[in-house]
Amino acid sequence: MSELRDGRLPALVLFDLDDTLCDHDTSLRLRLRYAFQEAMAGRESVDLDDLIEASAKEAIAGTAHFAEMLRQRGIDDPAEVTRATERYVHDRFRGLQLFDESLDVVAAVSRHTQVGMITNGPSQIQRDKIRLLKIGELFPIILVSEEEGVWKPDPNIFARAVARAGVAAADAMYIGDSPEHDMAGARAAGLISVWINRREREWPGGPPPDFEITDLRQLLPLLGIA
Ligand SMILES: [Mg+2]
Repeated sequence: MSELRDGRLPALVLFDLDDTLCDHDTSLRLRLRYAFQEAMAGRESVDLDDLIEASAKEAIAGTAHFAEMLRQRGIDDPAEVTRATERYVHDRFRGLQLFDESLDVVAAVSRHTQVGMITNGPSQIQRDKIRLLKIGELFPIILVSEEEGVWKPDPNIFARAVARAGVAAADAMYIGDSPEHDMAGARAAGLISVWINRREREWPGGPPPDFEITDLRQLLPLLGIA
């Protein structure tokens, strides 16, 4: 891992939301289980865990793939698709929680420098999530892609965040879990990129992030504030 330039604390530290501050991945699997378990009841030939994993792999949000997922497993009844879709949508934030360290780390960073958030998604869903997690107050700057009309990895959404904070891109840091959306976008916009790799995956290729961590607590020594 390289050193921060001049050992200097960035003037702005920006965070992704899903799977960086909160455990969207676990919540997604709980929601998929809830959505599909009724359709699967009594069908011993279908493996519910396999369906959940296949669905999570197919899309990290939305229900457009449900009909095909069920059809592939011999369930062709539109009523079952509708029911699974309704259960998934109705139960949008099931089990959604912050990671253990998120509040403490953001609070610690914000005592030393500006903090903000850039999150991809529809405004209503992301804003409701921020409210539910009670983290709105922690972030003076929050950009939600639907509200901005720009989605990560478009570098413009990162440029907007640094402009709003009144800092230079090179003096800002972005922490996110997605190589494609977070790391590629932050890099293209000239920010310092920090990949949070909680599941210790292989870097998928392409220009690597400036830093890699597996837990947000590792940010503090990186920033020189712990
Ligand atoms: Mg994410």
